[in-house]
Amino acid sequence: MDAKAAAREKLDSIRPRITELSHKIHANPELGFKEVKAAAWISDLLSEEGFDVKTGICGLATAFSAKAGSGPLSVCICAEYDALPAIGHACGHNIIAAAAVGAGIAAARAADEVGLSVTIIGTPAEESGDAGGKILLLERGAFAGMHAAMMVHPAPFDFLTPKIIAASMFVVRYTGKEAHAAAFPEMGINAADALTVAQTAIGLLRQHILPTDRIHGIITKGGDAPNVVPARTAARYIVRSQTLAELERLRPRVYRCFEAGALATGSTLEIVGGDRPYSEMVHDHGLVALFKNNAEMLGRSFPELDMPADRGVVSTDMGNVSLAMPSIHPMIGIDSFPASNHQKEFTEQCVTESADKAVYDGALAMAWTAIDCARQAAIRNRLLARSLPK
Ligand SMILES: [Zn+2]
Ligand SMILES: [Zn+2]
Repeated sequence: MDAKAAAREKLDSIRPRITELSHKIHANPELGFKEVKAAAWISDLLSEEGFDVKTGICGLATAFSAKAGSGPLSVCICAEYDALPAIGHACGHNIIAAAAVGAGIAAARAADEVGLSVTIIGTPAEESGDAGGKILLLERGAFAGMHAAMMVHPAPFDFLTPKIIAASMFVVRYTGKEAHAAAFPEMGINAADALTVAQTAIGLLRQHILPTDRIHGIITKGGDAPNVVPARTAARYIVRSQTLAELERLRPRVYRCFEAGALATGSTLEIVGGDRPYSEMVHDHGLVALFKNNAEMLGRSFPELDMPADRGVVSTDMGNVSLAMPSIHPMIGIDSFPASNHQKEFTEQCVTESADKAVYDGALAMAWTAIDCARQAAIRNRLLARSLPK
């Protein structure tokens, strides 16, 4: 039997279990670095399917790697499984995880025959925005020896090369001094005013940044009582630019807005994190072309989306992986429009029949792409020529 047909037969045989895995993760949303159940369910399934599974790798309790096959070409498939606060799996990472598992199992069926080894890397906390799972796993060697990386991400439409830009998330804390807000307000130092000044400064800054930049955040602590001058406030902000280089120019300008808040009010400022940003994504066009062809064989189509450069941008730590090795991050459509990622309406769309089909199609298109990489001499040799050092 042809390798691709064998991979498809294997995926068909485990399709109910992959669908069940997607639904189970969806019904049990877990936040970044706390994805205990999801990581265990995935690891157990891959163990049963004969993968060599290592859990809690690189000092991360909810990361894992699972390897099968012994061929010279090492392809890794990234599985994400973290959810968002309050709105659950509104980014559909249950679909990403189940598709990755399906792809790995299907590709493993043909791996030795075509000269492939396939590793599913469980990458926690993609939604964290700073020092995400893939960044820590890259730093700590989980991707060593890999020649290429891939994953699929659900979206309203099929889209091969989403605009993935650099991003940096950080926490801001101001400390002032409490006082009775009516009796002795002159004795207080208002840490909430510091945030107001900072937000005003950021609002003015917006006139002078690139249309492709993004600055957005939330106040996570604004005070404790209206009759007490707030002494401790906090916020979480994300700054994004097209590339890491542009981000490094924008981020200090935003920090200065927060410094302005401290200066104006006499509060002290602390900024935590932001130093391990998500990078822009470099899509490997050879791998993209293979994935496109395989997805089209399954009946998917990729019309040109006429999207301006500053619209529809996202960020992911898969960008960092793409700077280390040839990578793809196609969006797999679940027919959810107008519901889109990070809306609770999208959460509901991530366990529909269309979502389940995206799991299957994403899995098979990735498995076939891995098989193509091993069988087609030109791309195989290009990938083998360079791998992340062990
Ligand atoms: Zn997301
Ligand atoms: Zn996502």
